[in-house]
Amino acid sequence: MNHNASRRQVLQGAIAIAIVVGFDLVNREWVTSASAASEFESLPPLDGILYTDTATRNAAADDFGHLVRRYPTALLKPGSVEDVVRIVRFARSHKLKVAARGQAHSTYSQSQVEAGIVIDMSSLNTIHSINAEQAEVDAGVLWSQLLQASLEEQLTPPVLTDYIELSVGGTLAVGGIGGRSHRYGVQVDNVLSLQVVTGAGNLETCSREQNRDLFEAVLAGLGQCGIIVRATVRLVSAAQNARVFLLFYNELAALTHDQRLLIAQKRFDYVEGQVVADASGGWRYMLEAASFYTPPNKPNNNSLLAGLSYSQGTEQIEDKSYFDFANRLAPTVAFLKENGAWFYPHPWLDLFVPATVVDRFVGEIVSGLTLSDTGQGPVLLYPVPTDRLTLPLFRVPDEAVVFLFAILRTAPPDASAIASMLADNRTFFERNRDRGGYRYPIDAVPFSQADWKQHFHPVWGRLVSAKRRYDPDNLLTPGQGIF
Ligand SMILES: Cc1cc2nc3c(=O)[nH]c(=O)nc-3n(C[C@H](O)[C@H](O)[C@H](O)COP(=O)(O)OP(=O)(O)OC[C@H]3O[C@@H](n4cnc5c(N)ncnc54)[C@H](O)[C@@H]3O)c2cc1C
Repeated sequence: MNHNASRRQVLQGAIAIAIVVGFDLVNREWVTSASAASEFESLPPLDGILYTDTATRNAAADDFGHLVRRYPTALLKPGSVEDVVRIVRFARSHKLKVAARGQAHSTYSQSQVEAGIVIDMSSLNTIHSINAEQAEVDAGVLWSQLLQASLEEQLTPPVLTDYIELSVGGTLAVGGIGGRSHRYGVQVDNVLSLQVVTGAGNLETCSREQNRDLFEAVLAGLGQCGIIVRATVRLVSAAQNARVFLLFYNELAALTHDQRLLIAQKRFDYVEGQVVADASGGWRYMLEAASFYTPPNKPNNNSLLAGLSYSQGTEQIEDKSYFDFANRLAPTVAFLKENGAWFYPHPWLDLFVPATVVDRFVGEIVSGLTLSDTGQGPVLLYPVPTDRLTLPLFRVPDEAVVFLFAILRTAPPDASAIASMLADNRTFFERNRDRGGYRYPIDAVPFSQADWKQHFHPVWGRLVSAKRRYDPDNLLTPGQGIF
């Protein structure tokens, strides 16, 4: 018995789960030590564990959306990068589909795989190194984990998502946008190199200089060509504090005007915004901006707010530590977990809207929007200049500035309410698409292969040839529904 097998047996024995020993090619099912009967193909020795029990498979047939369930036949918790290679090769030789799962915070089965193998990347979660300019991390590391470690060196990833309990691999597979994207692009624009296990089962290193083709196929590539196992990401110096400004507007056009002014002038370090419910059952608009500083330096409120046309007297200004600002959703998430809403269905809609039509497009939707349409979930609206975006598969409208418009709905667990929200998502997606808009594909919009072709136009051909080259048997990430 080799070392790997004995470690696996000890671990599996400890939790009383039958050890998977192979795959029955005739019945196409996993064979455990308990069930081994006739002929099967042996599983290579693993450093981690391949689970086939019902509870684990049920949990993997779900995500933050709670809208779609696709049941895998197994879930791997890799104990090493080699395990990912071994399982992808094994899956390839037996025509089994594979999907990496970060934190499963996409909402429409993007990380699920029917009758295939889910690779739970959370067990690969080591921060390998941090220096003044970069960090090298496993793909299962959470951004919160990296932030905490980098802040010890007064460093931070340049762009963080609003919620930082997402995996590095998961957001690099989609893009990763936040309030600093107006300065630094999205998270994929801040990656220096990657280690990737391709669908062909090869472990490859790629960057802008080396294997650029693979680098560009994987970043924002929706898991189609490879599983990111390690990433080297940029770090920048972190200030100690954030002064946060919430400014309220009655008019949408006034909000978007000021947001555009602020990003053009780079007046703040962070700029986002929301459509928020007002006391009379209607909507008003909120600009959220932050200026980062380290004492004794302090932001000058007067110059930061000069010339903005928010409703004077409604502004809220607060100082926080930089970490508390980055982690600002934690108390809300704790509250939503406590009251159960966190576990409700989330038929989210995330769109990139061309700036030239944003007031009209968003205005039309908001005029018909009610709190039962959003389930009290936030409605985000903020601008991003596209000259900061460098990766071809991160799709946004062809304009100098685009707006992220996201209706982050919470639905009651009621099939007809969910169906109606999904239908609205599709309608709003089409209206935006017809004006040159795109979707940010972490959301829940019914999407056909023709839609994907249109989504990736004019780089569709590039994606198809990368898929052929790096995932020739089309194993990877079927939950996206692209191939
Ligand atoms: C509360 C909340 C707040 C959010 N805020 C933001 C935000 O501010 N900005 C933003 O951009 N997004 C945001 N998101 C969306 C989030 O970025 C995406 O859903 C992201 O994919 C989640 O990361 P994850 O680790 O959960 O990935 P998963 O949902 O597990 O995976 C997403 C996709 O990537 C694939 N994948 C996962 N890991 C890998 C890997 N290592 N290699 C290759 N493919 C992989 C999966 O198969 C799947 O197709 C938010 C989501 C939630 C729930």
